[in-house]
Amino acid sequence: MKAVKLLLSLLLAVSSLLAFDLTRSEAAAKTFKDISSTHRAYKEISYLSEGEIVSGDSKGYFQPSRTVTRAEAAAMIGRSLNLDGTKRQTSFNDVSSNIFASGYIQSAYEKKIISGYKDGSFKPYDQVTRGEMAVMLSKAFNYSYGGTLSGAANALKSRGIAQGMTDGTFGADKSIIRADFAIFLARAIDYTLRVGNPGITFSGEMYVNVDSLNIRTGPSTKYGVKGSVKYKEKVAIGYKVGTWTVVKSAAGTIGFVLDSYLSKTVSSGDDHSQSPLASKTIVIDPGHGGTDAGAIGYGLKEKDVVLDTGKRVRDLLAKTPLNVKMTRDTDTFVTLAGRVSFAKSVNADSFVSIHANAGGGTGSETYYYGLARANPYTTESKLLAEKIQKRLVDAMSTKDRGEKHGDLHVLRENTMPAVLVELAFIDTKADNDKLASPSYRQAAAKAIALGVLDYYGARGYDVSNLYSLIK
Ligand SMILES: [Zn+2]
Repeated sequence: MKAVKLLLSLLLAVSSLLAFDLTRSEAAAKTFKDISSTHRAYKEISYLSEGEIVSGDSKGYFQPSRTVTRAEAAAMIGRSLNLDGTKRQTSFNDVSSNIFASGYIQSAYEKKIISGYKDGSFKPYDQVTRGEMAVMLSKAFNYSYGGTLSGAANALKSRGIAQGMTDGTFGADKSIIRADFAIFLARAIDYTLRVGNPGITFSGEMYVNVDSLNIRTGPSTKYGVKGSVKYKEKVAIGYKVGTWTVVKSAAGTIGFVLDSYLSKTVSSGDDHSQSPLASKTIVIDPGHGGTDAGAIGYGLKEKDVVLDTGKRVRDLLAKTPLNVKMTRDTDTFVTLAGRVSFAKSVNADSFVSIHANAGGGTGSETYYYGLARANPYTTESKLLAEKIQKRLVDAMSTKDRGEKHGDLHVLRENTMPAVLVELAFIDTKADNDKLASPSYRQAAAKAIALGVLDYYGARGYDVSNLYSLIK
């Protein structure tokens, strides 16, 4: 009896010791059926999985022994650096837009991290060698390596990222398997995973330019928070991973923050110019207008409801770093083509059209263009639609008709993430009452603005400080 008790308390003690360390990585790694906690690459694969930098196959296997293709390498590096992975046309004659990694291949090519062959090909399905991997990582993480395979190998070895083979060589011409690629990539990102605990050097200091800035365990908001720093606080600058920088706070916390929240000088109170969203323009598009009243119900005109709601969205989003433009802010008629060309002319990063429904139904719905034939931003458009739709039905207590594909001019012909919101049915009494109410229109506008923030948050921007501005 006593022995059992002792054993139990020992087990409890051990498990509580381990609990802190395991919770995070277990959550991430348990999805891979072929990576147990004793696998030699468990820590590194778990780390990358947490940031959604690597993923398994559809059956939940990581396939650690499979060789890495050039397309996969581009995707993993691209996700690490938060490059734009939107599938699109590329500069290579053998990488079409529907290859899963086309966006990352093109982004990595534009950043000169990868290159193709003289015949204009990329050979996406060729295996990556250890030497090529070393060069890719050296370029991705800005290591000076002298442009040679051995220089790249040394750049990794000197940082504790890679070691030589047992025969003393680097094995530059040997193909690399997924487990090893994950190990090297994870170590390049997170210095705490490196061999021999080489540490990192900090050079120079910068100031935090937002109210509160989370320090994370990895280079995206998918990673956990290990501390935070406040406005005007100084941090020491370590190395960069894409648009994120490893910093050390005065309290000694070391981790990742988004570069644009750091400034060389202290910025003034509500200066949003340093925010990464400050370079983004969102176009708000109230439907119809002028001679085109849109749908009419119980004396209420769609053009008036959506203009008022659109202006409220503008006023709310204007409090954030986003630039907000409207296709119309008066009762004038704008053609569908005119709305699209306006959005393109202001280089819009996202587009939200606002309408009211008719036809005797009830509820709210949000459309996006879901085919790859025209507007290529299918995934982003769907994401934006989901985020706005969710906020809208919550705020208006309308029936959730969902987000759905719609082959609509302003969605199809645009070249940025675009959605069309149908607030509610103007010709159904209960819905019409809400559309006629200024307080409901304000609630709808707030919902759209919050949905926009949710969307940018989901795309990796730290919007946590902006929600309090939408009120
Ligand atoms: Zn309409």
